[in-house]
Amino acid sequence: MAAHISIPEAKTQERCAIAKQDQWNVEALYSSWQAWEEDLLKWGRESSSPHWPELNAFKESWKKSSEDLKKLIDICCEIDRQLSKLHTYAHLRHDEDVSEEVAKKAYSRITALLYAFAQEAAWIEPELLAYPEEKLDALIHSKPLDSYRFYLEKMVWMKKHTLPAEQEELLAMAGKSLETASQAFGAFNNADLKFPPAVDSQGQQKELTHGKYQLYLRSPDRALRESAFKNLHRSFLSYENTLCELLSGQVQCHLFGMKSRKFASCVEAALFPHQIDVSVYHSLIQAVKTHLPALHRYMNLRKKMMGLDQLHLYDLHVPLVKQVDMGMSYEEASKLIIESVAVLGKDYQNSLTQGLTKDRWVDRYENTKKRSGAYSSGCYDSMPYILMNYHGTLNDALTLTHESGHSMHSLLSRANQPYHYSRYSIFVAEVASTFHEELLLRHLLNRVTSKEQKAFLINQKLDDMRSTLLRQTMFAEFELKIHRWAEQGIPMTPELLKTEYRKLNQEYFGPDVLIDEEADIEWSRIPHFYYNFYVYQYATGISAAHALVDRVVNGGDKEREEYLTFLSSGSSKYPIDVLKLAGVDMRTPQPVEAAMRHFDALVTQLGELLR
Ligand SMILES: [Zn+2]
Repeated sequence: MAAHISIPEAKTQERCAIAKQDQWNVEALYSSWQAWEEDLLKWGRESSSPHWPELNAFKESWKKSSEDLKKLIDICCEIDRQLSKLHTYAHLRHDEDVSEEVAKKAYSRITALLYAFAQEAAWIEPELLAYPEEKLDALIHSKPLDSYRFYLEKMVWMKKHTLPAEQEELLAMAGKSLETASQAFGAFNNADLKFPPAVDSQGQQKELTHGKYQLYLRSPDRALRESAFKNLHRSFLSYENTLCELLSGQVQCHLFGMKSRKFASCVEAALFPHQIDVSVYHSLIQAVKTHLPALHRYMNLRKKMMGLDQLHLYDLHVPLVKQVDMGMSYEEASKLIIESVAVLGKDYQNSLTQGLTKDRWVDRYENTKKRSGAYSSGCYDSMPYILMNYHGTLNDALTLTHESGHSMHSLLSRANQPYHYSRYSIFVAEVASTFHEELLLRHLLNRVTSKEQKAFLINQKLDDMRSTLLRQTMFAEFELKIHRWAEQGIPMTPELLKTEYRKLNQEYFGPDVLIDEEADIEWSRIPHFYYNFYVYQYATGISAAHALVDRVVNGGDKEREEYLTFLSSGSSKYPIDVLKLAGVDMRTPQPVEAAMRHFDALVTQLGELLR
């Protein structure tokens, strides 16, 4: 929290100018593209067809012996494991510079192979499911298949919605083409789209990129915020028809999946595989909407504190407490993050220290044509890599701890589970990350002494809950809406999208926020709308995480161990059940209700501190 880090004036650096220690350690995965090619030849066999004839050898025999079925699943897991290793390397290298040709080609080759694999293995599930129930049950409960029992049970759970083998094969064949809308949006958003520079109050032009946009929105210079907001959204607005078609295309893919597998709705199709009832989705929206007056109160407080006649959407990210400077370098942030997780024990802290400061999990800084945003990624045989565009704000430190939460979850699940249970489900994916964020905030709140700093942090927390719990629920509601249109045959148009988006903005933010025309196009720039009912899980995740932080911080060894068990469980149980291991039940609306009450209480607390 020492040195103030200002908005970088310099142009974004080329990748070659970034120090090795600040780049992720991709060499640990493959020493070179040549090593990658050799592995690709061994596992992908691009030129032969079928690529994996060994699968077909089991087409008849699996029914005869559970040992053969086990062997078949073993082989599938091994191929999948090796392909995802190849995929990880290609996608990391691709994201370092999305315009670089070698990585782009490699990424597209390995993606094609993953589809080919899905296609060649597509017969297995329907064949299994078509097998007489009693015989299948006997197989699942036979000794050799012990280690795959839950894996097979999950497959049987999908039985009602699995198609005959030939149709499944057809669906798998269509897989790659069904990605077009989301791939095209990614290419447009990350590489092709350029924004005009933002202009600050001194009339100075500032380069506008995805990474810098977030930074400008936190600037005290209102002219800069407004200009960044308007220039960014106007750029999207000028492509509104194309962007509407892309989003519509993506929703049509979901509709195709829903109809072909005979689900009642797109949202049901997305939630069913994880055994999550659609009522969890609806009750989230319900619980948040009941508490919207808390957000309106916060907006009113913000307007007063900023001394503005009118609050705009570009005024929502500025810290309300201007005099407190809490920017920090990457090194300072890592140190604080490691201290903040002390409640999770020494082993946990040591692994995290290793990753953030020595093993180079993190690709720290922005470079030209690097993928925007931040994520944690990797595979069973890699470190849990983190992509960041660290600029030195408190918010960047929160992003770093957020992504490290994901990475620790991956690390523990991979270390404690066999390959086929090592990937945790999306529903629980945001729990560990939010847990980390909450710990860092509490750690900082404990360290600071002045009223201003406390207010600054509570303000930060409120903004974080606003964007994670409230904004994502608004997104979830919008997503539900656009899928319902598709289900009802209502055509998507830019006008309809903008009108409905405006209504939601007005309802969520309330009477104190003026919604600029430019904000109506915001839907067009949200990558998550291409993910198929993903965003609601940020909101349920933050609610679960809040409940768990309270439980672990106020608890003892038992509560800590239960939380670590959850982190180590991967997908060895259904998501709602792994969360129950840690002590929180998402089948009830209570965690969301409690999180919203917490938000409400923080608004009051901030109001008092600022009085
Ligand atoms: Zn996350």
